[in-house]
Amino acid sequence: MRQSRTFIPTLRESPADAEIASHRLLVRAGYLRKVASGIYEFLPLGTRVVQRISRIIREEMNAAGAQEVMLPIMQPRELWEESGRWAKYGPEMMRLKDRAGRDFGLGPTHEEVITDLVRNNVSSYRDLPLNLYQIGTKFRDEVRPRFGLLRAREFLMKDAYSFDRDEEGMRLSYKAMYEAYGRIFTRCGCTWRAVEAATGLIGGDISHEFMVPAEVGEDHIALCDSCSYSANLELAGYRRTETPRGEGKAMERVSTPGMRTIEEVSGYLGMEPRRMVKCLMYLVEGKPVAVLVPGDREANEVKLARVLGTDEFRLFNESDWKEHPDYLQGFVGPVGLDSAEIIADESLRGAGGLACGANERDVHLVHVEEGRDFRPHSFADLTSARTGDPCPRCGEPMRVEAGIEVGQVFQLGLKYSEAMRCYYHDENGEVRPMYMGCYGIGVTRLMAAVVEQHHDERGIIWPLSVAPAFLHILALDYQREGRRKAAEDLYRECLEKGWEVLLDDREESAGVKFADADLLGIPFRAVIGRGYDEDGTLELQERATGQRARLTRENLFRRLEEARESFRDLAERGDM
Ligand code: ATP
Ligand code: MG
Repeated sequence: MRQSRTFIPTLRESPADAEIASHRLLVRAGYLRKVASGIYEFLPLGTRVVQRISRIIREEMNAAGAQEVMLPIMQPRELWEESGRWAKYGPEMMRLKDRAGRDFGLGPTHEEVITDLVRNNVSSYRDLPLNLYQIGTKFRDEVRPRFGLLRAREFLMKDAYSFDRDEEGMRLSYKAMYEAYGRIFTRCGCTWRAVEAATGLIGGDISHEFMVPAEVGEDHIALCDSCSYSANLELAGYRRTETPRGEGKAMERVSTPGMRTIEEVSGYLGMEPRRMVKCLMYLVEGKPVAVLVPGDREANEVKLARVLGTDEFRLFNESDWKEHPDYLQGFVGPVGLDSAEIIADESLRGAGGLACGANERDVHLVHVEEGRDFRPHSFADLTSARTGDPCPRCGEPMRVEAGIEVGQVFQLGLKYSEAMRCYYHDENGEVRPMYMGCYGIGVTRLMAAVVEQHHDERGIIWPLSVAPAFLHILALDYQREGRRKAAEDLYRECLEKGWEVLLDDREESAGVKFADADLLGIPFRAVIGRGYDEDGTLELQERATGQRARLTRENLFRRLEEARESFRDLAERGDM
């Protein structure tokens, strides 16, 4: 690539909406442009990076026995009705009509389409297991598109779907994908960890997410360094060890005029927030349910959904409070609250010395004891772990870390195959449902995650494996005849070797060339400058380490060959 002829519109200023490094740098360095909120164009260098990541993914998926297909983005409503997700998916699925008025959705994921393909074309145990994948566009009308490629509305996903004869087969398929995912993220230059995950709208029982630790990550993970337990905070457990106890005093009413928040009341009463019982009113499938959590914690709605067995619930809104006047906003409490089902967080089991709303305006109760003064219908794990909470497995303190979810794998079991009648005939001719798994990687999110882990204040630092080019040739004062010729010769020779190189053949100042090179982040740089005039040497610079060496042409090639070799070794071992 000649830089003078390649479309790399770099910018000095960051776009106003770019809050994080990957978004800022990918736009400034001319990899990416925005068309509309959450919808991006990939320019030539950006496209190359996507292709290099995709190639790594393809190699690993093919090696794991998956076969590539291409599935449509536009999908008929009827298929989504069969799985029940036409209604369930909500506004995140973009919907449209064709000229005949038929309903379609833009695929946010492809379980329905692939299950339809397989049920219509696979009928014998001999054809199983089967694993099909694609790398294609997904559309999700996210509530809050942000952070550039991290939460886009239109993005590239690799999604794979496995079909097996039985549960054991499904577990093996899952394991093969899990292992391939680890290799993919390592080869893309990321440090990552796999954590236990909730299954959400996709469904199934067992699932892992692959997280790239990064401060800007929207996911949070609880980690135990002692026993290596790790799970998304959405479902991470923790042991309840510090249940507050009472002193056996009788419950008392206290006047708390106009105090509705935990802070106000606990400050006024001089009590620790963890002794305050937060009583949250939810409307669950139309019925009021009181959810009790300690005052210093929030209710975790992913856990709540699991306990309630439905995701049709919401916290009371203004009209719900009006419609249910027996619950007094700001003063609801579990004592005497007979009209609602009460579910309490585990940490309130046997707790005492508590304070809570008295279901009476401007009044709270103190010295309240669970079991004596109120009794929840059930206890469950309803709150999120925090740094320092004891690990649910070994009891040692855990820590919480932010991460970017770059991939997720699911054991779906029979969820889609039963709903959509995806059956096969076994050895005895009996009809059985196929066991399914599904496996996603956010390809474009992964590109941003790589940048989050590999950049400095000057620009991107691409790992060799996904860089848009291997070598950046910079001839300073390009108009000087000797230097120009040296740069052109070097460029040609690299091309003959099949290397991807970018030649900065622009008539720009050295300062501009270096600044752009830093921004673009190509791993190696060959500088043809004063040293060349003096003794014919070139300067080899490494973007990641900043190391520089003055080398003859032969030595420069030797060093670059070595770098490629060691990289190739690593890739073959799966270390890159
Ligand atoms: P999130 O929780 O971040 O919304 P998800 O769990 O809904 O993601 P999956 O259904 O598991 O996403 O999709 C598989 C992969 O697709 C994710 O692991 C992620 O890498 C990627 N992905 C999902 N949503 C987006 C998005 N809005 N923009 C970019 N990539 C995405
Ligand atoms: Mg996910």
